[in-house]
Amino acid sequence: MDPSGLSRLDRRIAGCRACPRLVDWREEVARTKRAAFADWTYWGRPVPGFGPPDARLLIVGLAPAAHGGNRTGRMFTGDRSGDVLYQALYDVGLASQPTSVHTGDGLELYGVRVTSPVHCAPPANRPTPGERDACRPWLVQELHLLRPTVRAALVLGAFGWQAALPAFAAAGWTVPRPRPAFAHGARVTLDAADGPGLDLFGCFHVSQRNTFTGRLTPGMLRAVLRSAADAAGLGTA
Ligand code: SF4
Repeated sequence: MDPSGLSRLDRRIAGCRACPRLVDWREEVARTKRAAFADWTYWGRPVPGFGPPDARLLIVGLAPAAHGGNRTGRMFTGDRSGDVLYQALYDVGLASQPTSVHTGDGLELYGVRVTSPVHCAPPANRPTPGERDACRPWLVQELHLLRPTVRAALVLGAFGWQAALPAFAAAGWTVPRPRPAFAHGARVTLDAADGPGLDLFGCFHVSQRNTFTGRLTPGMLRAVLRSAADAAGLGTA
């Protein structure tokens, strides 16, 4: 655990301008806003990970939402996907409250950190392969800093899975070949030559498309969260 290292990293991420298309998009969204949030000053920058520096469980999404994380400056905060995720974390005892509205709302995560392989909101929620690759070093650095404590990771959706596996490999865990395929409920153990391994779990993304259609139900999400938390050595409700 290196708290100061992680907060330094978060600050550096928030200042990144490496992807011209995403810099333009996040700033344009922050200028034009959605009518419902007209009185907000949007964050409009890369959104760093959220949660304690000694987290045992890492949740990996895809990228911030234009009017969610890109508005509030905190992962999964202020959008429907976050409503589902934080409600489930609260239900299983890993969050202090069921809602995540803004950075000053008092939300605390217990042993859990939430991050994403792409830190800027992309148009249509779709980063390009080049943008995904450009952002990977940030996740690798975050994983290096979390390695002393992190024992499990829950990856939301196939894109996050594909983007995160190379980052886990670069941070020192051994990813099997051929690479394990994403599936809801997938569980893969990544060994490490020089330290503890990590249990990787797949879960459908908490997107509105999945939750509105019932592809991912609150019960399914709670079940995967409990398994991942158990593998990480965290107690759940
Ligand atoms: S997506 Fe990542 S690499 Fe690209 S500008 Fe944002 S923080 Fe930087």
